[in-house]
Amino acid sequence: MIERDLKARGIKDARVIAAMEFVPRQKFVPEQFRSSAYDDRPLPIGEGQTISQPYIVAYMSELLELKGTEKVLEIGTGSGYQTAVLARLAGAVYSIEIIPALSERAKAPLAELGFTNVQLKVGDGFFGWQDNAPFDAILLTAASPKVPEPLWRQLQEGGRIIMPLGEPRQTQKLVRIRKRAGKEIVETLSEVVFVPLTGVIQRAR
Ligand code: SAM
Repeated sequence: MIERDLKARGIKDARVIAAMEFVPRQKFVPEQFRSSAYDDRPLPIGEGQTISQPYIVAYMSELLELKGTEKVLEIGTGSGYQTAVLARLAGAVYSIEIIPALSERAKAPLAELGFTNVQLKVGDGFFGWQDNAPFDAILLTAASPKVPEPLWRQLQEGGRIIMPLGEPRQTQKLVRIRKRAGKEIVETLSEVVFVPLTGVIQRAR
């Protein structure tokens, strides 16, 4: 997987590659899909949600430009796989999941791997995690038509947000948005398809 799906497709950050080597994806995949754990595709994790494909996890992690000391906020814990990769790359990871059963299930593999720098919370990630703000980097693993305002406020000056920007059930744009002098500097990187951010933003549509 590392050679075929990550290095061959352009993942270069040695720390990201090491983190992907360290975190066993099969621990985050339901029993019946374990034999497909290293296929480069999303897999069902229950509750109508998916674990992201390894390439996308590595690519989004690389885009965050983590050096090891940062405070990272993740929106959409899902299986906890991306959370684990982030925990190898950053100082502290705060991850919010809106579906309680998924957040609960993610606890065991993260504990088994010995992570002590991860905090999980059940809630609507739209509102972020004010008590632990500001964050150096914010990663959304569900698509939103705009940057949730509270997340922008909780982003440190000089920080970055990586997210699928766009309407659900359509192709979205993967973007990196940097906060410079309080302004958004937006880079559009590729086309992606993610599940929608649910909760308050969906009800507002
Ligand atoms: N990165 C995850 C992994 O490695 O397993 C996959 C995340 S999955 C593509 C997106 C997740 O975002 C789902 O678990 C979904 O329930 C969650 N989600 C959707 N809307 C949310 C919201 N408003 N707040 C928090 N989590 C949300």
